[in-house]
Amino acid sequence: MSTILKVDKISYSYHSLQGETKALHNISFEVKQGEFIALVGPSGCGKSTLLSIIAGLNRPDTGQILFPNHPGEPAVRVGYMLQKDHLFEWRSIYRNVTLGLELNHQMTADKLSYINRLLSEYGLEAFRNKKPSELSGGMKQRAALIRTLALNPELLLLDEPFSALDYQTRLAVSTDICNLIRKAGKTMIIVTHDLSEAISIADRIIVLSHRPSTVKDMIRVELSKSEDSVLAARNAPEFKHYFNLLWEDMTDES
Ligand code: ADP
Ligand code: MG
Repeated sequence: MSTILKVDKISYSYHSLQGETKALHNISFEVKQGEFIALVGPSGCGKSTLLSIIAGLNRPDTGQILFPNHPGEPAVRVGYMLQKDHLFEWRSIYRNVTLGLELNHQMTADKLSYINRLLSEYGLEAFRNKKPSELSGGMKQRAALIRTLALNPELLLLDEPFSALDYQTRLAVSTDICNLIRKAGKTMIIVTHDLSEAISIADRIIVLSHRPSTVKDMIRVELSKSEDSVLAARNAPEFKHYFNLLWEDMTDES
């Protein structure tokens, strides 16, 4: 499979009146088309910083972000979904999911019909004129996903997208959202602090060290499971093995 993203020797520091905070040091990895990557590491190690650099929102001090299929183009093919769904209460669901298109002057018939298809596929058709507060947590997350998918990104970056949800809901919503993203044929990098979530979602887990963050470990996950659900993944015989590997990586770090 082809390489969709190349993170090449990225280093990054924040500068403020208090001084310099070295966040990332010489981070390199590649992501293949269709791969699901989980990014884990201690709190404050630079996970969000790395996503913002991949998204093109921050420029690295050294190193480069490459999209080998589209050399020379900016990161327009990246969709970024944050921890909070960031839906605007004063806009209807429909006007929330079309916001990205509106801002990018892409309200074309094609794109709108894609949105309409996703709304009905994701069971949100009847909610298009509702306000975000009238939807459940899972439905809001679906709406946020539609808004992200509307611009047809090839690579989705999700920064702790489920952490605002309670445990039960999180299992269901993470299964749901990940299956939808797989079905849409997208590549994904998801940041999570939940090791079990990382194992059950990802094809490969990248473990970052403490600040200044380096790639500490890369673990390919292969689970024998009967279906694509977070619960089935957690019941796979290999699950515990991966959990122990990650646990060791993380406790080295604390
Ligand atoms: P993570 O997402 O892994 O928890 P972040 O990428 O948010 O970590 O932050 C990495 C480090 O950089 C932290 O120590 C954080 O305090 C610091 N940091 C993040 N944003 C800024 C900023 N805008 N200015 C200064 N320091 C920052
Ligand atoms: Mg973060």
